[in-house]
Amino acid sequence: MVAELPLVKARLVNGFSVDVEDWFQVGAFEKVIDPADWDNLACRVDVNTNRLLDMCGELGVKATFFTLGWVATRHPALMRRIVAEGHELASHGWAHARVFTLDAAGFARDIGDARKALEDAGGARVIGYRAPSFSIDTRTPWAHEILGEQGYLYSSSVAPIAHDHYGWREAPRFAFRPVAGADLIEIPVTTVEAMGRRMAAGGGGFFRVLPYAFSQWAMHRVNRQDERPIIFYFHPWEIDTKQPRISHAPLKSRLRHYTNIDGMEAKLRRMLKEFAWGRMDSVAATEALRVVETGRVVETGR
Ligand SMILES: [Zn+2]
Repeated sequence: MVAELPLVKARLVNGFSVDVEDWFQVGAFEKVIDPADWDNLACRVDVNTNRLLDMCGELGVKATFFTLGWVATRHPALMRRIVAEGHELASHGWAHARVFTLDAAGFARDIGDARKALEDAGGARVIGYRAPSFSIDTRTPWAHEILGEQGYLYSSSVAPIAHDHYGWREAPRFAFRPVAGADLIEIPVTTVEAMGRRMAAGGGGFFRVLPYAFSQWAMHRVNRQDERPIIFYFHPWEIDTKQPRISHAPLKSRLRHYTNIDGMEAKLRRMLKEFAWGRMDSVAATEALRVVETGRVVETGR
């Protein structure tokens, strides 16, 4: 008899992503900051993203930088550094317009312009897209189709959860093929299910505001129980204690934006060391082998 060998499982590689936008471009401040004023505000995205690149270099982590076309045209050297250091440069749209505020033609223009700016500045092909504020949902049935038509291979633009600003709660939790017959796959941001509830666990404000122990538990659960990669995201302004403060924004927006910014970098470092991380395009390549064919079967009366 042949002795049974112990089963050795390869460590799952999780997707580490940064949504490259400045402190004044976030959804939380859209009612108090006019985009016409963006060019007059103190730019912080360059210095913050360079800090993140330093951190990734130090820890040997490769990441995906979903970047606004608006940022790419103003900071071409930053785009070149992202590509030169082995990271993936991907699209976050032109100027952070949420997809459900556009029509199909406007969306096609938005992602086309952003991609051209990113490819011109970075000198590398762009195959990945993340919608601003995870704004692909039941209101935008044309969005994935247009991404596929424009040659994108993956999107990470759906939050399969109910949230006050976004969410498509009936969407699958893991990679799916939203358009029948197209190669494009959608890789939703991470959620965790426990005790009959589904909770956001993929980064951003949740990671920053809640204790690390929650994210640690949720991420291990996704890796070990679901046996799927974590899709993690955050923003350069989330490590920036020196960003200008918007005192006239609603209290809820300010709480969400500024809480625990001073502890964010240490928390990120801990997470980067505890789990295995890589670029979203390599996660997409692995996930493409496991996708479920769903089509856009889910419609709600929202
Ligand atoms: Zn964003």
